[in-house]
Formats: sequence, C-alpha cells, structure tokens
Amino acid sequence: MSEFAGRAAFVTGAGSGIGRAISLALAARGAFVWATDFDEASANGTAELIEQTGGHGTAVRLDVRHEAEWQTALALADSGDDALAVLVNCAGTFAITDTFSMPLDDFRRIMAVNVEGTFLGMKHAIPRIAKSGGGAVINISSLAGLKGMAGWTAYCGSKGATRMMTKAVALECAGLRNNVRVNSVHPGFVDTPALRKSIHDRGSQVVDPDEIAKTSVPIGVACSPAEVADTVCFLASDAARHITGAEIPIDGGMTAG
Ligand code: NAP
Repeated sequence: MSEFAGRAAFVTGAGSGIGRAISLALAARGAFVWATDFDEASANGTAELIEQTGGHGTAVRLDVRHEAEWQTALALADSGDDALAVLVNCAGTFAITDTFSMPLDDFRRIMAVNVEGTFLGMKHAIPRIAKSGGGAVINISSLAGLKGMAGWTAYCGSKGATRMMTKAVALECAGLRNNVRVNSVHPGFVDTPALRKSIHDRGSQVVDPDEIAKTSVPIGVACSPAEVADTVCFLASDAARHITGAEIPIDGGMTAG
C-alpha cells in the first residue's frame, strides 16, 4: 500500500505503545516516518521495526517540552526527500493523584508534555506542512479529554486542553486556507505499557487489560494500539479531506452513555 508515498510523517512519543503502532502503520502505507521520542533507544527500536517491515524512517530524539528541540528536529525533517505532510502529537504522560495531594510540580510536568508539547508541535510543524502543500495533524487526546475521571485531574485537564486547542488551530488553518486539517482522537482503554502501569499504580487485583475490559469497556474488549493507528491513518489520508476540528472517540463505547 503506498497511500502516503512521497509524504513524510512526524510522530512524537513514537518509541512505545500507540506512537510506535502509528509509526509502523504510516510507514506500512508508504510514508517516510520521523519516529521521535525523548528516549532515543526506544525511538531507535521503532525505526528498526519500520525498516524490518519494509518501510522507511529515521529515529530522532525529541523531548516535546523544549521549543529548541522541536526546531532542531523539524529542521532535520526539512532536509528529507519527502514533503512533511503529517504530524501526530502522541507523546504523553500521566499521574494518578487526587487534586488535594498532587504536588504542583507533577501537575506542571503533565501539562508540559501533554499540552505545551502539543502546542509546540502545531506551532512549528504546521507552517512547514502548509508550505509543502498541506496535510494533517492528529492530536492524541483521550477519553479523559471528554469526561471527568476522579484522581486524574491533571491528565483530564491536559487532554481537555488538547481537544480544544485542536479545534482552535483547525479553525486558524481553515481561515488561512493552508490545506492543513487538525483533528483529535480520544482512545479509551488501549493495551500499552502506560495502561499497564496505570493498572499497577491503582493497585488493581486484576492486571490483564482484556480481563478488566470485560466489565469496564462496553464492547468488552481492550483496544489494540494498531486499532488507534488505523483511525489516525484515516484522518491523515485524503479520504478525510473534509474532516477538521473533529474529535473521534476510540473507546469501545465508553463515552456513549
Ligand atoms: P506510552 O506507551 O507510555 O507511550 C508514550 C510515549 O511518549 C513513551 O515512549 C514516552 O516515553 C513518550 N514521552 C513521554 N514524555 C515525553 C516527552 N517529554 N517527549 C517525548 N516523548 C515523551 O503510552 P501510550 O499508552 O502509548 O500513550 C500514547 C498517547 O495516547 C499518550 O498521549 C496517552 O495519553 C494517550 N492515551 C493512551 C491511552 C491508553 O489507554 N493507553 C488512552 C487514552 C490516551 P517514556 O516511555 O520514556 O516515558
């Protein structure tokens, strides 16, 4: 499949979980993937998997909290052969602590990665995508960006901010007629290292995501990272030409009720 042939995609948090699956899926569809993560070894692991599966990509170290690092990483992407057409803001972090005992530094860390990182990505990548003819930004928000969850104040706040920044920037791009679409996706219960850590941190007796999903996800199964990647690829593609400023839950019905 060469749906994205000649186009480059820039993915943050690409070293693990959903970001890795998105990188592999875009590469499998013909995109050159800039697989970025603040853990260089895990980004390298994703780039190796891309090459092993017949795709093309390069690992880049990027801590999304730092504006100068964004500028350096995107300058590198500018030097590539393929036009930058897709940005996926996937890097994310969380802490499960109630509001009253959460240290301000922890709150700020979550905001810095999830909100400031997403803002910086859009600020610096969108002008480049527009210059290369247009494309799409997909911000990975969460179920927590659509509904409140006790103990997740900072994460809910960060993912709600991601959702609304997406809509504001989508309208800015529309106003500029720059041919860049901006959408958010809202995963609910995806079997990744981060989800397993959150299950562990909550001290749950049941640790298997599929077992937990039987009662906590309406359709009764956990989502795979590849299933999130399929929706991201759709939003990145020309088939989604008329979709911008939208929010797509990928949650097995968790926000339907
Ligand atoms: P994950 O496996 O922990 O992957 C997140 C990646 O982001 C990791 O490689 C992480 O590196 C990286 N990262 C963290 N801080 C970063 C920074 N400052 N700069 C660059 N990279 C950074 O988590 P995941 O479950 O795949 O989550 C991916 C995204 O989906 C996140 O935005 C998350 O909030 C969202 N999400 C996940 C679920 C779910 O059920 N899994 C549900 C809703 C939304 P380290 O591993 O080194 O920390």
